[in-house]
Order: sequence, then C-alpha cells, then structure tokens
Amino acid sequence: MTNLPDPHEGEPFLLTPGPLTTAYEVKQAMLRDWGSWDGDFRAMTARVCSELVTMANGADEYVCVPMQGSGSFGVEAMLGTLVPRHGKVLVLANGAYGKRAAETLAYLGRDHEVIDKGDYLPPRGEEVRAALKADPAITHVIAIHCETSSGILNPLEEIAKVVAEEDCRLLIDSMSAFGALPVDVKALRAEAVVSSANKCIEGVPGFSFVIARRSALEEAKGNAHSLALDLYAQWAYLEKTGQWRYTPPTHVMAAFDKALTLHAAEGGVAARGKRYRENRDVMVEGMRDLGFETLLKDGWLSPIIVTFFCPADPRFAFNAFYEGMKARGFIIYPGKLTVVESFRIGCIGQMDAAIMRRVVAAAKETLADMGVESAAPPAEALAERARLAA
Ligand SMILES: *Cc1c(COP(=O)(O)O)cnc(C)c1O
Repeated sequence: MTNLPDPHEGEPFLLTPGPLTTAYEVKQAMLRDWGSWDGDFRAMTARVCSELVTMANGADEYVCVPMQGSGSFGVEAMLGTLVPRHGKVLVLANGAYGKRAAETLAYLGRDHEVIDKGDYLPPRGEEVRAALKADPAITHVIAIHCETSSGILNPLEEIAKVVAEEDCRLLIDSMSAFGALPVDVKALRAEAVVSSANKCIEGVPGFSFVIARRSALEEAKGNAHSLALDLYAQWAYLEKTGQWRYTPPTHVMAAFDKALTLHAAEGGVAARGKRYRENRDVMVEGMRDLGFETLLKDGWLSPIIVTFFCPADPRFAFNAFYEGMKARGFIIYPGKLTVVESFRIGCIGQMDAAIMRRVVAAAKETLADMGVESAAPPAEALAERARLAA
C-alpha cells in the first residue's frame, strides 16, 4: 500500500473487479508522454512482457503478446488466432464470461460445444473428460479461472490435468485471477492464458495480454479472422521491431509498468493473493455478522469478488443500498445471478483489511438508514444455494 497521506482525496474506493482502485504512483506514471517508436518505450514493452512470462512460469517456452483493448479483445484475439478455422472448442461455462467466450466463437464461426453449469456450479474434471471422449473433433478447451460474475474459483488444476490427459489444448481466461493466484503455464500444460491490465496487477484499463506457447503462435499464422485482433501478426511484428503493430496505449503501459514494480515490491503473486484473501475474510466475516449470506460456500469463494444475496427484508432495495455505500466512499457492484437478487463486493485493488472493515461499517450504517433490521436472505435463495451441496 502507498505511504502517501490520502492518495484518493475523496475518490470512492472501487469494490469492483476492474477498473479498480489503483495506487497513486500508478496514476502518476501516466503524466508523461511516450513515443511509441522510441527505444525507451520499446524497452518498457519488452520488460513488461518478460516479467509477465516469468510470473506465469513460462520462461523459454512461452511468450507474452500484449493487445490493445479490454480483456474481451484479448480473449477474442486468443480464440481467433490459436484455434484453427477447422478446430473445435469445448467451452466450460458457469457464468457471464464463459458465455461470452462461446458467443465470441459463434461470431468467429468456430465450431464449439458448451458445458453450461448455470450461474455458479463449477465444471468438474470428469465431466470434461466425458465430453472430450464423446467428441473426438474437439481440439481446444477454454476454461475460466475465476468466473467473475459469481466470484467462483473454478478447479483449474483438475480441469488442466484432464485436458492434457485427453490430448487437447487448454486456453485459460485468467483475467480476474492472474497476478493474485498462481498460474503455472508449464505445470498446467496450457496453450495460452489471457489477462488484462486492470485486474489483479492493479493497472488502469486499456490493454490485455496473452501468454502463449511459442510453438502454438508459430502454428497460428493465417488462422485469424481479423486484421487488428491477429495475435500472430502482433507477435511477429513485436519480435521483428520491438513495437506494437498499431498505436499502443502508451500511458496505460507506463502505468502498468509501475504497477508491476509495486506488485514485485509487495512480494509478487503470493503476497498479492494473501492481501486479497485477508480482504475477503475480513469483509465476509463482517457481512455475515450483519446477517448477509454468501452465494458460495467457503471452499469456492475466490479472493477476487464475493456475491451476497440481497436481504429478504422488504425495506431493502439495491439502488438505495448502492447510493448509501457510495455516499460513504465505496462503489459496489450489482449481482449477475438469474434466479435470485444479489450484489457483489470486490476484494482486489489498492485496499487492505482496515479498508474492508470500513466497508462493513458502511454497510451496517446504510442498512440502519434504510430501516433494515436483518440482512438475512429469503428462503428461496438458501434453497438455491443448497443445490451446491449436491
Ligand atoms: C474482466 C473479465 C473479462 C474481460 O472483460 P472486459 O470488460 O472486456 O475487460 C473476461 N473474463 C473474465 C473472467 C473477466 O473477469
């Protein structure tokens, strides 16, 4: 955390899964202009890419390709470039981002099949194995690491083991987890993993990056359906010139470079994950003390974002709760469940346990203002959750 007095100066904390609250130094790093062709900027790109490959334990075998645009641009570039036009993808979906991957493949005209577990049940290794055995045409599997729509932490190791055993290629959307949870591309035998600037590395939005097996990129020439989102072409140009193919988000890169320095100074992935777990534990415990219940059982709760059921009390309304939290300095996030009402509180960004205690105090005051006596959820929410135990 930063040592400056109040770096946010009245800005609310973003309890959201990116954009999120960044360090003052990260914002400050954007106060300079960079020439995209200049050697200093090319060195920055090379340094950032090499640090990301190291973070993923991909040295020698993997390369990092940055891509302009938010995370979805990176997912689309990865799918459109690494999946050959006659490939077939098994999508493991349990929320909005798995569904978006399937939608992307539909746009790209890539054959695919979906295992859809609904809002929050995790895809398990054995059902992935059954699907792969049932359809030998499947060449790739895409798994979502942390499904940010519910906050569930999917069993990535279990899935990766099956995908490797079945001789398929694994693509990972680790957008909201990379940098806070370990992703070891060699141990997972992953083909590629995608993440973006504005999640657990705590940069600002503006680009995504794909850490891909070099051999997979070499094979991918000509696959892409798109000029701007051709990951192979972006990589080939970077290799040749050290430059991004088209105008890079220079200020965003400079901020990200600073964010990586702060990430390392904090103690890397392990320390960042530990801080986020503490954020989650303090916040979840405090919210439970107020009567709130989490959608997920402890074993599936990610340290990224947590979904809470809205209270059953008719005096509770999400919009009023949101405004009350905002007035106290905290921006929360609406829920994304289809069956019951919910909201989400993120644990990532420049926040620590002390701030999470203030979040709980703000929730308590807001409930009191609304006249809500108990934050307990309706019975149907708990019944819905009981399905998870099955
Ligand atoms: C944030 C996120 C994305 C990308 O969303 P953008 O809005 O395009 O940045 C993709 N997958 C997951 C799991 C995410 O959390």
